Amino acid sequence: MHEISLVRNIFRTLEAQLPAEELAQVQKIKLQVGLLANVEPILMQNAFEAVIATEQPGFKSAILEIELVPIRILCPSCGQESGVENYRFRCGFCDTPSNEIVSGTELLISGVELREN
Ligand SMILES: [Zn+2]
Repeated sequence: MHEISLVRNIFRTLEAQLPAEELAQVQKIKLQVGLLANVEPILMQNAFEAVIATEQPGFKSAILEIELVPIRILCPSCGQESGVENYRFRCGFCDTPSNEIVSGTELLISGVELREN
């Protein structure tokens, strides 16, 4: 399952960036997932729990918060940014087709909350 390796990557990133005493206090991991990132939030949550149960007991009180990021495109004709609905990649202002994606493909850790001491 591809989500398992994504979750492992999240923990690896946190382990590389946070000192050990902060790792032990992680309460919430916030993840930004673009609608084009090819990630199912429910599968991500399941993978998160499975990896903690089997490999990362130190994070057992942590939760994963997924923020879905909408798809936005930049218009090659009028230069405006607009949202994409129903995978219709056309400018919301002048209807020109665009494949210049400005958001919606991200998969990144946007924040970590630690427990208060
Ligand atoms: Zn336009």
